Amino acid sequence: MTLDEARREEVLKTLREHAKRITAPKRAVVEVLVGAHDHLTADEVTRHVQQVRPDVSPSTVYRILEELEGLALVVHSHTGHAAAVYHLAGRSHGHVTCEVCHVTYEVPSDIFNRVARELDSTLGFELDRHHVALSGICAQCRHRLRVKL
Ligand SMILES: [Zn+2]
Ligand SMILES: [Zn+2]
Ligand SMILES: [Zn+2]
Repeated sequence: MTLDEARREEVLKTLREHAKRITAPKRAVVEVLVGAHDHLTADEVTRHVQQVRPDVSPSTVYRILEELEGLALVVHSHTGHAAAVYHLAGRSHGHVTCEVCHVTYEVPSDIFNRVARELDSTLGFELDRHHVALSGICAQCRHRLRVKL
């Protein structure tokens, strides 16, 4: 079994354990998320699903994503002005998004350890590293902008 197949089976197993029906659209959404290795908007997930199942509507995909999120199998994140992006839950990480090229990068969650501790001790605030991306300008764009000046 490949790693992707193992992840897919794990997701389907959790669905079964929660007595959720595994419909064909649901299986297709899981398939897309497992294969993605990337951050996809609900529209992008829909487009991928529709390549194999043209009959699946965007609202069905939304409902499935919500159900998967409810079981902590999927997480979403807001990256700038665009729609939220989804991926399978896994290793905790943070997001930074470039305002110029709109690429989202994953960053190891421990990069935020110091600021998380500070926020906790000074404000009693608990940081969620994953849910909303920090915005800025990525290294490539900074380089390109510098060259232009
Ligand atoms: Zn949200
Ligand atoms: Zn950039
Ligand atoms: Zn992510």
